[in-house]
Amino acid sequence: MKVLVINCGSSSLKYQVIDMRDESVLVKGLVERIGIEGSQIKHEKTGCEKHIIKEALPDHKKAISLVLATLQDATHGVIKSMDEIVAVGHRVVHGGETFSKSVLIDDKVMQGIKDCIPLAPLHNPANIMGIEACQALMPKTPMVAVFDTAFHQTMPASSYIYALPYEYYTKYKVRRYGFHGTSHKYVSARAAEMLGKKIEDLSIVTCHLGNGSSLAAVKGGKVLDTSMGLTPLEGLAMGTRSGDLDPAILPFIMEKEKLSSKDMGNVLNKASGVLGISGVSSDFRDIEEAANSGNERAKLALDVFCLRVRKYIASYAAVMGGIDVLVFTAGIGENSIGLREKICEGLGFLGIEIDSEKNNVRGKETIAQKDGAGVKILIVPTNEELMIARDAVSLSKK
Ligand code: AMP
Repeated sequence: MKVLVINCGSSSLKYQVIDMRDESVLVKGLVERIGIEGSQIKHEKTGCEKHIIKEALPDHKKAISLVLATLQDATHGVIKSMDEIVAVGHRVVHGGETFSKSVLIDDKVMQGIKDCIPLAPLHNPANIMGIEACQALMPKTPMVAVFDTAFHQTMPASSYIYALPYEYYTKYKVRRYGFHGTSHKYVSARAAEMLGKKIEDLSIVTCHLGNGSSLAAVKGGKVLDTSMGLTPLEGLAMGTRSGDLDPAILPFIMEKEKLSSKDMGNVLNKASGVLGISGVSSDFRDIEEAANSGNERAKLALDVFCLRVRKYIASYAAVMGGIDVLVFTAGIGENSIGLREKICEGLGFLGIEIDSEKNNVRGKETIAQKDGAGVKILIVPTNEELMIARDAVSLSKK
């Protein structure tokens, strides 16, 4: 029983085939530069060398068609025919208020995803292209949409309503939605399993710290608050995104620098965050290296990043009436020993105390709090693709 997972961006596409009998990954790959000169596929069959295919891929349909052919290739493939794929799971970024869980895709669902385009103008159109290309090439295979926003739909209105005129919510659906929901859901469930506890009995703060970063307050398996908002720009300082700031800065800078709203959006999304502060890079490995060699702005960028994570963790103790479990995941959360330690500094008053020895791991499921500490600290590698594949299988059976 094999499932194809598709995560389609505007010019790139990630895919995996997962064998659901043992949830093993048979192959994963990345298509880059779709519609741009120099397109290629990096195809990695488990246990084999990476296979690179350089071929012109003018659109998503051509890209997916080549992926499907490669999946059936005698040497590099993992299936004999497309009939072996029982379902396709698609990552969709924005489900608005329409989708609070994954759904089997039909015409009505497609319309629902299209209706959310104004909320995610860069992401949903790419996701739609991926779905339509798969539908054209695999007309009989069930397709399932798994939304980044869905897990956060349990947030109460007090967490998702902005203090703006209420009609912006009713007219334009301006509210907080949150993202990385599939990851927050996976790691919170996995954390409960690792501790041998029921998720219903736990108050968990999940820290998804990667290129884009967000936190969620998950109480009894339901999200009560999360740090991203209408878009993935709100909240933490990220690789290139500003996160929270005084909204009055926007007109001030736009006037001073003669920027349009589009220019300002680009600054906030692409030139800010730890890149903006450090001037070094958006990659935390580069920034940590520069900071270790004495670069003051790189140090400052890390200080700003960690302080903001720490403030969100503490505020989520207030949201949930305490914390039982703190979870770190994604590129930084799974791998940066130093930043996990730095984030936890000063949170002892909440019972958050990380053990330096246990914390000395990268990319491995770990329980890392000091003996006797009140809050369990877990490192849980995320697995959004597996969550998507699980939903694809269970919904396609219905
Ligand atoms: P993601 O978006 O989840 O792929 O995470 C990407 C981020 O994780 C990048 O900023 C990387 O620098 C960071 N990252 C990956 N490995 C490490 C590491 N060993 N130490 C620090 N940061 C890392």
